Amino acid sequence: MSLELSLKDVLRTTKTHLVKLEKLGVQTVRDMLEFYPRAIESTEITSSFRNIQLGAKNTVSGVLCDVRQERTPRGKKLGKAALVLDDESVLDVVWFQIPYLLRNLKDESRVFLVGKVDRQYGKVQVLNPELHLNQNVHVGSLRAIYPESPPLTSKWFREKMAGLLILAKDMPEIVPTQILSEENFLSKGEAVKQVHSPESAEKWREAKRRLAFEEVFEIQVRVMREKLVREKEAENPYLVLLNAEEVKRDIAGLPFELTTSQKKCLYLILKDYERDRPSHRLMQGDVGSGKTIVSFLAALPILRAGWQVVFLAPTEILASQHFANALNFFPSEFPVELLTGSITPAQKKKIKMRLQSGEIKILIGTHAVLTSDTEFQHLGFAVIDEQHRFGVEQRSRLAREHTHVLAMTATPIPRTLALTIYGDQDLCRIDELPPGRKPIITRVVADMQKIELMNRFIDDQIGKQRQIFWVCPLIDESDKIEAKNVKAEFDRIANEVFPHRKIEFLHGKMRPREKNAVMTRFKEGVFDILVSTSVIEVGVDIPNATVMVIENSERFGLAQLHQFRGRIGRNDMQSYCFLMVGKKDDAQKERLRAMEKSNDGLYLSEIDLKLRGMGELYGTRQSGLPDLRCADLTDVEMLQNARDWALKILKEDLELKAYPALKKRVEEGEVYF
Ligand code: ADP
Ligand code: MG
Repeated sequence: MSLELSLKDVLRTTKTHLVKLEKLGVQTVRDMLEFYPRAIESTEITSSFRNIQLGAKNTVSGVLCDVRQERTPRGKKLGKAALVLDDESVLDVVWFQIPYLLRNLKDESRVFLVGKVDRQYGKVQVLNPELHLNQNVHVGSLRAIYPESPPLTSKWFREKMAGLLILAKDMPEIVPTQILSEENFLSKGEAVKQVHSPESAEKWREAKRRLAFEEVFEIQVRVMREKLVREKEAENPYLVLLNAEEVKRDIAGLPFELTTSQKKCLYLILKDYERDRPSHRLMQGDVGSGKTIVSFLAALPILRAGWQVVFLAPTEILASQHFANALNFFPSEFPVELLTGSITPAQKKKIKMRLQSGEIKILIGTHAVLTSDTEFQHLGFAVIDEQHRFGVEQRSRLAREHTHVLAMTATPIPRTLALTIYGDQDLCRIDELPPGRKPIITRVVADMQKIELMNRFIDDQIGKQRQIFWVCPLIDESDKIEAKNVKAEFDRIANEVFPHRKIEFLHGKMRPREKNAVMTRFKEGVFDILVSTSVIEVGVDIPNATVMVIENSERFGLAQLHQFRGRIGRNDMQSYCFLMVGKKDDAQKERLRAMEKSNDGLYLSEIDLKLRGMGELYGTRQSGLPDLRCADLTDVEMLQNARDWALKILKEDLELKAYPALKKRVEEGEVYF
């Protein structure tokens, strides 16, 4: 058996289990072994009353007798039994659902129960325990607890993992020997074994520490290597000295005053042009903070020097929006063109020729623009809007041209995360909104009465010519279901809730042209409510939209919710965001309450990072950010240590010739923008 074997050939399990695993990105034996548990618990066996901890989970062993079925006064079936311990004391056992195993059990068999033991009406009772007939991977020692998502339970993981652990020793070791010995780390194989099936709590922590290091180390090596390679090869062919007078004049020509942090970011970008290497900067700023204008102002000195500029947006809608703004902003001596997937091949060819000759100075388009047959005369500056992940081809393309690169994102990035995955870039942040914006009022809406109120409020807003975004979550990632959800919600809202209003819908499965048309109609005020999935773009400007409803908001990370919310409140009108929840209990969650209290994206993302960890923060699989399983991104010391080691290794051996396994792994992965 090998690590690369597909799980469907190796595991005896159901199709639904396999499908769910695949959704989690777990397909091979190696993926499975790298699906680490989040915690462990002790199942040390007790068979005398003296050792039982009342009010806590215990693993007790004894002889099960008097197994019977009873009905509650309300008619619900309960399973009941008595467990006689070795010291002859007796516990009452109650099951809400009669365990399958009980059916074949002979009276007076020895069993192992894992469950909470408590005093009830004077008797000691084990409530709804797990039942095991012998000592197995679930009882007797320490056991792993996995991140569960139905039908994948910890029990299932433990049983399947047990059969695969013999392969742990074959796991490739990517951490260099020198680090293993100096940091006193377990080998990879040993760590994987100990993390799933630990000998002791101490060993489990050791395994976690080592695996966490590896996760961060791998990213650091990849990211820092990218930077070092870039810097080694490059000088800066697009060097412009900062001309303060000119910049002042540019700013004075704007219809509004720049905020202080916009000015600061602009200054940093312009200073980058003076350095001896091409720059690479990430500008973070909440939705609506005014990143676009900063990037436009930053383009001017490059254009005046006679070079070209490209603006890349993730969708056609956003590209068109940038195009309209650019036509407005840039003086006519700098011709602007829009290049997207939906223009004809003939037009495309013409644009590309004019680009190569240097006639077009500013190109705006989707990320697809940057293919190898798009030749610039002198590409001095590339702006990448709202995209975290960037294709290898496009990346090396920009590196080859030694272009200055500015990536922009509304995704809040906690400091520790920035240190890790954006370790190779300079960062700046616009941390204020333009003056006059009113903070969005956010409310969690849980019960029927509040929903009634909300609907009436929405109707009232529509009466005032305001427009509404209505977001439905993506319950399943499959496209078909996505479209169906939106359609069903649309039908309900259009027919039952607001039959007298004009409503349309939008989902990721529609063609770009259709999406464009819907967005344009919405912008023009042709209809009142837009029902959409969460996959549609965040940057679109609909000035009249003042209300956003988010269904099943508990499913989203706070950073994500905050981004959705950013689509409203983009001018001086008061805006409102309603967070609906699937179950009433979800409304109590601290996380959603934080949305009511704060409008600060960075603060919210830091809360989420603490409460739920990385995977949940941005909806990792959608955002394309790496999925860290062990590493705690609030552990600054560990992050710094991994970074120091990565730099040390790379300084000695940039090609990673001495570390083939590390090299392979690093080159398989991607760098994040
Ligand atoms: P984002 O950072 O989300 O990309 P935009 O660049 O789209 O935000 O800016 C949102 C809106 O705010 C635009 O209409 C823009 O013209 C306007 N804007 C930007 N900066 C300022 C400012 N300093 N004062 C007033 N309005 C501004
Ligand atoms: Mg934007």
